[in-house]
Amino acid sequence: ILIAMALGILVGAFFKWIIGNEADKEIALLGFSFGVKAFFVDGIFHVGGQIFVASLKMLVVPLVLVSLVCGTSSLKDISTLGRIGSKAMGMFILTTAMAIALAIFFAVLVSPGSGVNMQLATAFDPGEVKSVAQVFIDMFPSNPIDAMAKGEMLQIIIFAVLFGIAITMSGAAGERIRLFFEDMNVIVMQLVELVMKVSPYGVFFLMAKLFTTLELADMANLGKYFGVVLFVLFFHGVVVYGSFLFFVGRLNPIIFFSKMRETALFAFSTSSSNATVASNLATTTHKLGVDNKVASFTIPLGATINMDGTAIMQGVATVFIAQVYNIDLDTSDYLMVVLTATLASIGTAGVPGVGLVMLAMVLEQVGLPVEGIALILGVDRLLDMTRTAVNITGDAMISCLVAKQEKCFDAEVYNDPKAGEHL
Ligand code: ASP
Repeated sequence: ILIAMALGILVGAFFKWIIGNEADKEIALLGFSFGVKAFFVDGIFHVGGQIFVASLKMLVVPLVLVSLVCGTSSLKDISTLGRIGSKAMGMFILTTAMAIALAIFFAVLVSPGSGVNMQLATAFDPGEVKSVAQVFIDMFPSNPIDAMAKGEMLQIIIFAVLFGIAITMSGAAGERIRLFFEDMNVIVMQLVELVMKVSPYGVFFLMAKLFTTLELADMANLGKYFGVVLFVLFFHGVVVYGSFLFFVGRLNPIIFFSKMRETALFAFSTSSSNATVASNLATTTHKLGVDNKVASFTIPLGATINMDGTAIMQGVATVFIAQVYNIDLDTSDYLMVVLTATLASIGTAGVPGVGLVMLAMVLEQVGLPVEGIALILGVDRLLDMTRTAVNITGDAMISCLVAKQEKCFDAEVYNDPKAGEHL
């Protein structure tokens, strides 16, 4: 996958060079670059990449439903589920709040927006912004089929957990259905493996398309913003997560990071936590030794509500926008940012670019101009890719800690470099 990604970036950069600037071209060359673009970029790369993303998304609903029903219905008592849920939620919220506090700290220290004089090049429309109350109401499904058809992750989770609990309470009938779901789980996992086999091609197409079309905004003004976000993402992803693993989980962080590599690359190339659920679930259960009882719950839940990388972008962006517009924020504003960014992440699905919509909620809350988002749009795509990798790494890290505490963890698998190698 790593090789495919590097090749994709190189090929993309090469095609960008070939297609070049249309204004400088002779008519014959213009025809040639037009043909190259139509055939490769909008043809093969685009179609290949989109089919790959569609296949990843295809796995999500069946996988979450089946593995979560299996996980819940195999629990001995429901209080275990309550404990797993509250520990995971507590950790999700804690790490997100830490991420955004770190981001604000570094952004205030570096001042990426002071002295920046920018014109708004494009407008940004965040669409309809949900209230926090609505976010909670929308977590509950009124029609489970509709929830599955629309891929509403939290609604599917709630339905699957209730269904699993009902199975444990239904005696012989429940046992028959539990066995059915266990079998289904084996089959769905096989489906995941099939898609994983073609993933290097998918990653290649996505990268080649992206790097042919990527237009980076004027880096002179955004360089500092970009740098601070990247630095905090890296710091949080490596130092903070590494410390949690080492001090809280008593686990070797190096093993964790090396086993997470492929899943992180998936997140990077698709920019979507949701599309990475299948790969993350396979990695945490087969390579990191987390029992499906925990992972089937924490991984999809984390994909939706635990977005530390996104919170980091929001923290830095808020400080940046305030500085560009010369608006002073005080400590209570910053606390407000931490609170809204953490709450906003709860109800938003992990799909590309959704962080900007969440940023709109945060800016509105502290009275900063929402149009300010247009300032950072130009560099958001690359940051989106990187923060998605941090988002899903956080989900896996917390899954390991919760599993270890709940004794649903196989240390032998974690320490075995060959575990889950077939994936
Ligand atoms: N793309 C991110 C994710 O799926 C969300 C975001 O920051 O836009 O996790």
